[in-house]
Amino acid sequence: MTDKERIKALVGELNQYAREYYVLDQPTVSDATYDRLYQELEQLEVKYPDWVLEKSPTQRVGGVVLERFEKVVHDIALYSLSDAFSKEELFAFDMRIKKLVNQPFSYICELKIDGLSVSLKYQNGVFIQGATRGDGVIGENITENLRTIQDIPLSLDTQGTLEVRGEAYMPKRSFDKLNQARELEGLATFANPRNAAAGSLRQLDTKVTAKRNLATFIYQVAGENIALTQSETLNQLKNLGFSINPSYQVCQTIDEVWTFVTEMAEQRHKLPYEIDGVVIKVNQFVSQEAMGFTVKAPRWAVAYKFPAEEVETRIISIDWQVGRTGVVTPTANLTPVSIAGTTVSRATLHNVDNIKAKDIRLNDTVILYKAGDIIPAISQVVFDKRPLDSLPLEIPIDCPICHLPLVHFDDEVALRCINPMCQAQIKEQLAHFVSRAAMNIDGLGPRVINQLFDLELIGDVADLYRLTFDQLIQLDKIQEKSATNLLEAIEKSKSNSVEKLIFGLGVRHIGAKVAKRLAEHFGNLEQIMQASFEEISELDGLGVKIAESVTTYFANIKVRELIHELQDSGLNFDYLGVRMTENSEFSGKTIVLTGKLGRYQRSELKEILEALGAKVTGSVSKKTDLVIAGNDAGSKLSKAESLGIEVLGEEDILKKLKSEE
Ligand code: NAD
Repeated sequence: MTDKERIKALVGELNQYAREYYVLDQPTVSDATYDRLYQELEQLEVKYPDWVLEKSPTQRVGGVVLERFEKVVHDIALYSLSDAFSKEELFAFDMRIKKLVNQPFSYICELKIDGLSVSLKYQNGVFIQGATRGDGVIGENITENLRTIQDIPLSLDTQGTLEVRGEAYMPKRSFDKLNQARELEGLATFANPRNAAAGSLRQLDTKVTAKRNLATFIYQVAGENIALTQSETLNQLKNLGFSINPSYQVCQTIDEVWTFVTEMAEQRHKLPYEIDGVVIKVNQFVSQEAMGFTVKAPRWAVAYKFPAEEVETRIISIDWQVGRTGVVTPTANLTPVSIAGTTVSRATLHNVDNIKAKDIRLNDTVILYKAGDIIPAISQVVFDKRPLDSLPLEIPIDCPICHLPLVHFDDEVALRCINPMCQAQIKEQLAHFVSRAAMNIDGLGPRVINQLFDLELIGDVADLYRLTFDQLIQLDKIQEKSATNLLEAIEKSKSNSVEKLIFGLGVRHIGAKVAKRLAEHFGNLEQIMQASFEEISELDGLGVKIAESVTTYFANIKVRELIHELQDSGLNFDYLGVRMTENSEFSGKTIVLTGKLGRYQRSELKEILEALGAKVTGSVSKKTDLVIAGNDAGSKLSKAESLGIEVLGEEDILKKLKSEE
C-alpha cells in the first residue's frame, strides 16, 4: 500500500471508529488502538501536507451532533486538546511554548477527567441552557438532562450571561453498578465510563439520566475571563458553587510538571473517577490569548495521556454462566496476567454479539484492558498470533445447566434460558435473596447453598425458613456454632422491613430503590400485591415497565403460593421505615440543606424529608420553599435570606419531625 493509500485507509478507519465512539457510545477498539492509528495518520500528514483530506479526523473536533436533539450553536467554539504520549513529547511542548511566550509564565496541571465536555449557560444567575461539545461549533441541547445532575447549580449569584465549561463524568462505582445491572438485563454494556456518561446524558428520557448518578468538574469560563489566571478561575468557579477538581497544581517548570504527572499516574487507580491523563495549560491568560488555537485545539495546552494499561494474554477456555434472570454470559478463562495493580485470570465476553464482532475464538491471543479501571475486558484479538487450525467459537444452542433450548429475544443482545426451574437460575436467585442488600442472611454463601441444593434440602427461598439444626450439621465444614449462627441469621431476617423481601424476590426491574418506594407508598406486601397497574405506574418515577413487571409477577399462582409459605413461616410483610405521608407538612416542598448538622448526617435527613414527600435539592433558588441551616452555613444561607426564603435550624426541624411521627 502506498502512503497515499494508507492515509485514505486510515481516515476511513478512524472515522468509522469515531462514529462508533461518539454516535453509538459503543467503541469497538480501545482508545490506545485509536490513538496509535491517529498518530500514524498525523505523522503521514506532516510528511505529505498536500494529501491532508478534508474529512481527516485531524482537521476537526471529534464529536458528532445527534439528530434527535435540538442543536445549539456555541457562541464560542469548544476545542479538543493536542496529545503528548511520552516525556519527550511533553518536553517538546514546553519548548514550543517557550518559543511562543515572551514573558514569565507558569503551568497549571489538571487531571484529565474521562468524561464528556459540557457547556452550561446562566442568565442573571439562572441556568438556562446546557449543551454537549458536539463538533465544537454545534452541540446538542441537553439542558433537561443536565438539570438532573446534583452538583450543577441551578441558580448562581451572578448578573448577565455566564457560560462555563467542564466535564460530566460517571464515577467508577456507578459505572460498575450500571454495567452489572445491564448485563443482568441482557443489555449491551458500556466499554468505559466516558461512553457510559455520554450515553446517559444523551437520553430523551431525563429520568434515565437522573438514575445514572453523573457528576461534573467545571474548569473553564467561556468568553470574558473572571480572573487573570486559570488557577484563580478555578477558585472563583468554586466560590460560585461549581464542583471543581481539587487535584490541580501550579508548576513553575516542566520538570515539576513531570513529577506531578508521574505521581498522578500512580494514584489514578485510587481515585473514585476515571482519569486518562493530565492536562497541562499555561496558567496566565495574557499568554494564552497571545498563542491562540489551531483548527482543533489550543496551542497553550496539551493532554499528557497515560500509557495504555493493556496486556496480551491467551484464552484457555470459555464458560457460559447462567445468571439469576436466565441471561447466559460468556466468560473467558485466561492465562493469568498482571494489569492495573491486580492479577487477572477471567474476563467477561459480555454476549454473543460482542464475540462475533471481535471474532473471539478459543486459544486466541487477546489484548486485555480494564474498563473503567475496574472490570477486565478484551479489546481485540491479535490475529497475527491466531493458531492456524482455529475455528469460530461454537455458540451454545441449549442451556449448559438444564439443557433446554436458549432464546434470543429481538431487543436483547443476550442469550437467555427461559426455564424457570433451571437449577442455575434458582441457585443464583437464592444467593440474591440472602445477599446483604436483600434479606441479609449471613453465612449462606454459594458453597452452603450448593450443598443444600444438592441434598435437596432447599428448592426455593421458602425452604430456607424450614431448615433445621440437624439438617445444617450434616453439611461439609458446618460445625455446631456455625449451624446455630446460621439459624439465628435466618430467624432474624424474618423481621426485616418488607422492602428487603421485595428486592430479594428478584422481580424484574425491581431494584432496592424501587422496592423501597413501593413499600413506603403501599405500607405492606398485601397492598402491593393488590395494587393495580395504574396505581403503580402513576407512582412518581416508576412508570409502565415496573408496573407491568410487578402486576404480572404477583398474578402468578406459583408466586402467590410462595408468598403464603413465607407468611406461614412468620416473615414480616410490613414497611417498618418512615412512611411517606402525602399530607405531611413537608410534602411537595423544595428544601435545601446547608451547613453542618449535629444529630443527622445530611444524607439521612434528606432521606427522611424525601420520605415525607419533600424534594431536597442542592442549590437555593426562587423555587426553594425552605432552607435547613446547620452550623457554619455560608452562601446558601445568605442567598436564602436575600430571597426571603424561610430558614429553620436543626432543632426546629427535630421538633417538627417529632410531631410528624
Ligand atoms: P480528548 O478526550 O483526548 O481530550 C480533549 C477533552 O478533554 C476536552 O474536550 C475535554 O472534554 C476533556 N478534558 C478533561 N479534563 C479536562 C481539563 N481539566 N481541562 C480541559 N479539558 C479537559 O479529546 P477528544 O477529542 O474529546 O477525544 C479524542 C479521544 O477519544 C481519542 O484520543 C481517543 O482516546 C478517544 N476516541 C476513541 C475512539 C475509539 O474507538 N476507542 C474513537 C474516537 C475517539
